[in-house]
Amino acid sequence: MDVQDRARIAERIEAEAQRQVQRFRKAVRGLHPRTCPICGYQGHFTAFGHPPRFDARCASCQSLERHRLLALFVQRTGFFEPHHAVLHFAPEVQTAPTIRRTVARYETADLSERRNVTHRVDIEATGLPDASYDRIICSHVLEHVDDARALAEIFRMLKPGGRALLATPVCEGWATTYENPDVTSASDRLVHFGQQDHVRYYGRDIRDRIRAAGFELSEFTAVEPDVLRYGLMRGETLFVATRPPTA
Ligand SMILES: [Zn+2]
Repeated sequence: MDVQDRARIAERIEAEAQRQVQRFRKAVRGLHPRTCPICGYQGHFTAFGHPPRFDARCASCQSLERHRLLALFVQRTGFFEPHHAVLHFAPEVQTAPTIRRTVARYETADLSERRNVTHRVDIEATGLPDASYDRIICSHVLEHVDDARALAEIFRMLKPGGRALLATPVCEGWATTYENPDVTSASDRLVHFGQQDHVRYYGRDIRDRIRAAGFELSEFTAVEPDVLRYGLMRGETLFVATRPPTA
């Protein structure tokens, strides 16, 4: 057996493992009935993730824990107001429609050709005008990019007093974010950072990184009874970054 044969066999094993994970996710129902704050579904959720998490995905609107956490925050705080101009990076189908219906101006941005967006731009250098948005949403983007540049862009595009919602995987047990310049291949990134196109795994110091861009920071964290009721990840945090009114 030569090297190519071994590589082909390894590929087939990996593909079969992926198929089994897919079947598992579809077959596994959650442990407790939940309520989806986005679509109102009440019942068992399904598994999602790598490795799969129980109770992760709404069986009706397909929302994940992070979408439901964001929806709860928005509903409880009135985060979006009718006169707002909003920019949504990497817009998710689970959260975008509600936001679009709520505000005066709703725009989307992404670099990928696969998404139909208002602005096909790089978050590290968008070319969009200064101080032009009341709200910016940036969920699960920062872990893919040069976050200092991205945060500077978000700050620049927000009106003074404007606010950004920032979400990303964080390991709260780590004081320091894990970055490793030797990890460059997709397969290495998957095992080191949790996904093939992630470039770091944040620790608690993500707060310092956000503040370093000039923001004031507050947080909305998934706690009980919301975790049980809405199928959230315990302790998952949504970061709310405000451009100070005088900055
Ligand atoms: Zn739902």
